Amino acid sequence: MHAGTHGDDVAVPAVRSKGVSMSSILDLVDRHDKFRASALNLQASENVVSPNVRKAMSSDLISRYSLEQDGDDAYGGTRFAREILHQVEGEVSSLFGFRFAEVRPIGGHIAAEIALLATVRRRENIMAIYEEDGGYTGYVRGFLPDILGFQSYRIPYSRERQEIDYTALEKSVSNISPRAIVLGQSFFVRPYDLKRVREIADRSGSLVIYDGSHVMGLIAGGEFQPDVSRYCDILLGSTHKTFFGPQGGVILTNDEDVFENVRANVTWRTMDNYHPNRVAALGVAVEEMKRHGKEYARKVVANARKMASELSERGFTVKYAPWFTSSHQVILDRDPAYVKGGSCVRVSRVLEENMIIIDREARVGLSEVTRMGLSDMGEIAELMQRAVEGQDVRKEVSEVVAKEKMQFW
Ligand SMILES: *Cc1c(COP(=O)(O)O)cnc(C)c1O
Repeated sequence: MHAGTHGDDVAVPAVRSKGVSMSSILDLVDRHDKFRASALNLQASENVVSPNVRKAMSSDLISRYSLEQDGDDAYGGTRFAREILHQVEGEVSSLFGFRFAEVRPIGGHIAAEIALLATVRRRENIMAIYEEDGGYTGYVRGFLPDILGFQSYRIPYSRERQEIDYTALEKSVSNISPRAIVLGQSFFVRPYDLKRVREIADRSGSLVIYDGSHVMGLIAGGEFQPDVSRYCDILLGSTHKTFFGPQGGVILTNDEDVFENVRANVTWRTMDNYHPNRVAALGVAVEEMKRHGKEYARKVVANARKMASELSERGFTVKYAPWFTSSHQVILDRDPAYVKGGSCVRVSRVLEENMIIIDREARVGLSEVTRMGLSDMGEIAELMQRAVEGQDVRKEVSEVVAKEKMQFW
């Protein structure tokens, strides 16, 4: 229906001279594109997509609907959209080694919401890694638990070691009997002892849900938490942080009942249309990951380790020395971030003035520069150091950016 747009015979007011505002948005998009194309992106939550992923993303599918119902579709013209959806489901399951995949969630957060709706009832409990320990804000009070009507408890966690306190977890789980133990972090540098978590969960009949949003590309490439499909009931996450896809989310499981419940919580409960162009683009990304994921993930983690030690040698306070990281992230200490530099927010701003982008939360991410073929971490670390010390390094940064060339597609 088009109620309210062209419905009544009310004269359309003379706002047709939209030319100005239309082109100014396009102009801003253009400026954004040029800006980001000339900057070195080290944000841990972001990645670049290949020309083929972009092609699928901007195809005709961008404005289409498809909604399967009783072996048919509520819409017409969906023959290829449906074939794409089913093929992508199959490819995502085989890539991650799970029996079932739900690829329609439009983000990692929505994937988490769907997975929790599918498995936890009102007034039941979950345990999650809290924000203060690097966990995802969505799992703490005020957010998903409040919306969905359950209590969230903190998974005991040692910040210094970046490790779950398994002995304390065992106690808490037996007291709380959570319906689900939700693992995964937004500040994520070390995998878990999943065998141990599984044993603890089994004693209380709890599910183990793994939010791999940040590390999906590394899991796919076999570099991070390779035992996730063996020990977890659900793996969910974003498709665009270390993975090669456009922004979106996936849910994976081996359990048919869980999968049925996941399916039942998508259409009309958490979303309606699923952005078929996005699913097609995800499919292209999965094909790229199948061909190149191993090499990509290995290089990302190697570059992160190298970057951590290069930054550390240049006076940055990098957390978790001497091992630093097992993922794509290098985490700088907030206070003080740099011996002469003050807080990480300032460091991030100063770097951005010099066309090097890290987030304001002190994470340095190596996925994008790795995908763009850069391998000299010392060179980047040195530019970061000089920028933080007050030098203008924009020219040198643009020379590094000029060397970037997309790999793995
Ligand atoms: C980024 C993130 C999310 C949210 O993902 P979106 O794709 O942005 O919706 C959820 N969980 C964790 C652990 C994250 O880091």
